[in-house]
This record gives sequence, C-alpha cells and structure tokens, in this order.
Amino acid sequence: MNDEMTAVSPEDELTFDCSPANSCFNDCCRDLNQFLTPYDILRLKNNLEINSSDFLRKYTSMHKGPETGLPVICFKPDPAAGYACPFVTENGCSVYADRPGSCRLFPLARAISRSRETGKITEHYALIHDPGCKGFGKTSGRRVRDWIDSQDVRIYNEMNDRMMEIITLKNTIMPGKLEGPPAEAFYLACYDLDSFRKEVFENGLMKEIPSGRQALEKAGESETELLKLGFEWIKYHLFGTKVNPTP
Ligand code: SF4
Ligand code: SF4
Repeated sequence: MNDEMTAVSPEDELTFDCSPANSCFNDCCRDLNQFLTPYDILRLKNNLEINSSDFLRKYTSMHKGPETGLPVICFKPDPAAGYACPFVTENGCSVYADRPGSCRLFPLARAISRSRETGKITEHYALIHDPGCKGFGKTSGRRVRDWIDSQDVRIYNEMNDRMMEIITLKNTIMPGKLEGPPAEAFYLACYDLDSFRKEVFENGLMKEIPSGRQALEKAGESETELLKLGFEWIKYHLFGTKVNPTP
C-alpha cells in the first residue's frame, strides 16, 4: 500500500465510498502489514470466542521494535492467499462487528498530540492515498466527521490513547530496549489479557500495587476495565508511576 497521506479536517467533505460493487472489493484486506492494538485483540478474540493466548498463537505474529524492544503484534497473513487477512472472505470481513480500529477508519488515519501542561489530547486525521482503492473520488455527501462518527471507533480511540501514554512513558523513563521480565510483563498485560486475568484473580498479581478494590471489581466484570487495569499495572510495575485507583 502506498502510504502517502494528506491532512484533512473534520469539516472537509470525504470524497470516498466503499462498496461491494467496486472492483477492488476486499483488495484492501490483502497484502497486509497491519498492526494490532491491545483493544483490537480484545475485540477480535471475543468475536471468535477463543482466549487471548490461542488468538495470538493462531492469528498473529510478533516482533520486537528494534529500538524500543516493545512487542509489535500483526496479523499473520496467509502467503498462499496473497498475504490476505485471516478474516477476509468472499463476502467481506467475517469479524466486521469487531474489526480493528484501523480497518474502521480507513481511508483515514488518526494521530494525536498531547499537551504537556494539561494532558489534553488533540486529534489529527489524514487521508491515506491507496492507489488500488476505487473508493476515492466518489461523492458521498459526508464530511470527515460523519465518517468517523459512523465507524463506532470512539472506544478504540480511547483505549489506543491509553496505550500511547504507556509507550510515551516507556520511551521517557526507560529509553532503550525493553528485554527479559519487563518485556514479558508488558506483553502479558497489554496483549495476553486472559493470562493477565488469571495472574490477577488466581495468582494475586495485584497484591504488589495499591489498586483500589473498585478497580478490581470492575476488572472482574468487564474486559475493557481489565485492560485499563493492565495499563495501570504496567505504569506502576515498570515505570513506578502512581496508580489510578479507578482507571
Ligand atoms: S479497496 Fe477501497 S473501495 Fe475497495 S473494498 Fe477496500 S476500502 Fe472499499
Ligand atoms: S479484519 Fe476485516 S476489515 Fe480488517 S483487514 Fe481483516 S478482513 Fe479486512
């Protein structure tokens, strides 16, 4: 995919329309090099009704960032099928309701900046120019803002922003390569959520940190809350930051 991008504002018209009638239907789900965020994995493994360890083993590959040592998780594409996403079918995406955030936003990409003073997040969007995509140039009558709103992406953005905060902390507090037990802890809490749950509720992982009872109760009832607790644990366990008792 050509990754040339143009900045767009929420009020710009989005001249793009994706349809199964387009000759490129499903092409964007092939020749993939797609990163998965912790929240993408939470949604996908639940869609497939399998645990996170099985999902990671079966559908993803992992490499370490050469500078940071942080795990980078991608779909494991099938070379025999043109490096297609494991979930693309003739009729489209088989995990559509829980597709990753980047699939939802395409042809847009999102970046954020965070104020050092207030922590306030500002969103930035860009249009990804994929020459193989026939959806461009089609009048949709929609603004960029309408497209974003229609993709049910708010919770993905919120969780991805929490993850970005952790990566920024890591790069500030522990520059250089994360290796050994710290790297394993990062992978456990961010990506292998079912194993993290077991460590929290069966093996007393949280005994070491002053997390609130309320946060633990919420984490027992909701996987999104469990992932938030995982992020808080990483912040405390690896970076020594104060724990938010109700993340
Ligand atoms: S390549 Fe573009 S128009 Fe074609 S299916 Fe994918 S997003 Fe839709
Ligand atoms: S998850 Fe669905 S939309 Fe995303 S690349 Fe795979 S098949 Fe395409």
